[in-house]
Amino acid sequence: MRALVTGGAGFIGSHLCDHLIATGHEVSVLDDLSTGRHENIAHLLGSPGMRFELGSILVPADVERAIDGCDTVFHLAAAVGVELIVNRPLEGLTTNIRGTEVVLAATHAHGCRLLVTSTSEIYGKNRSDRLSEEDDRILGSPLKSRWSYSEAKAIEEILAYTYWREKGLPAVIVRLFNTVGPRQSDRYGMVLPRFVRQALLGLPLTVYGDGRQTRCFCAVDDIVPALVALVDHREAYGKVFNLGSTEEVTIEELARRVIALAGSDSKVRHVPYEEAYEEGFEDMARRVPDTTRASSLVEFAPTKTLDDIIRELLAEERRDPGGPP
Ligand code: UDP
Repeated sequence: MRALVTGGAGFIGSHLCDHLIATGHEVSVLDDLSTGRHENIAHLLGSPGMRFELGSILVPADVERAIDGCDTVFHLAAAVGVELIVNRPLEGLTTNIRGTEVVLAATHAHGCRLLVTSTSEIYGKNRSDRLSEEDDRILGSPLKSRWSYSEAKAIEEILAYTYWREKGLPAVIVRLFNTVGPRQSDRYGMVLPRFVRQALLGLPLTVYGDGRQTRCFCAVDDIVPALVALVDHREAYGKVFNLGSTEEVTIEELARRVIALAGSDSKVRHVPYEEAYEEGFEDMARRVPDTTRASSLVEFAPTKTLDDIIRELLAEERRDPGGPP
């Protein structure tokens, strides 16, 4: 495979590059280093078959340069993180919608296969026991920035799907649920790296709302091989797949577990949503995936438990305090 990874210097993108290079593929990274970091892929830059293009998915010439010679595109570049979306919604919309249009046009022109990374935010406030790919989306007003992100990612999905239907582009759509691991920055609101850092500094862990909202956290190393397997599978084209863990935890319990595993004296501090984000902010009460579709087509069965993940992140933060900015 000669793969273009857009957003390859980001958290998930850089782990995907590690996996591709380790399994003998060639990789071209396109990243504007807005939220990605050069350090995330610096260790790969001497490897045969690895190249890095500094540039934006919004600039067709940058995408052209990066896609040259590739047969597969993993489109991960996006404006991500609830905090970033709430604070800079216009940037989020433009990057996610216009950027995807540019990437799709180039992917089609170069005859590549495509994997697009979407998100569990697609389901919005649907709190079903196991969210399956055909479940309804339940969203608030698009004028609320959180839902604008969900809308933008839905348009991204429709664009990829329509390229497949109308133009025969081999495209797979993946909805990632909360994905965590080393190199994830806490800067844009991601809860787990934030709790880990707070616990090791002895600061209060900032639990938003009443802390009874739940999430499932999956290790990035469990996600990445499934991305490769899906783009490689003919039957995946034109379809959407959930990927994530099904180990559900409340955010309050998550905070307590991080504190316990860190052996920290930190306390939990509840922060109202309007203070953490903005007036009228709506959170999702629950988010648990049904991943049967992915696991029946390719090998997908998360191996790391939440405690494994927390221990790994604590070790990483102790090794490299301050971690990603
Ligand atoms: N959260 C929290 N404290 C923080 C950051 C996030 O309690 O410092 C909560 C957030 O409100 C949400 C959950 O943790 O309920 C997961 O947030 P994150 O931004 O990591 O991902 P989301 O699932 O909301 O996209």
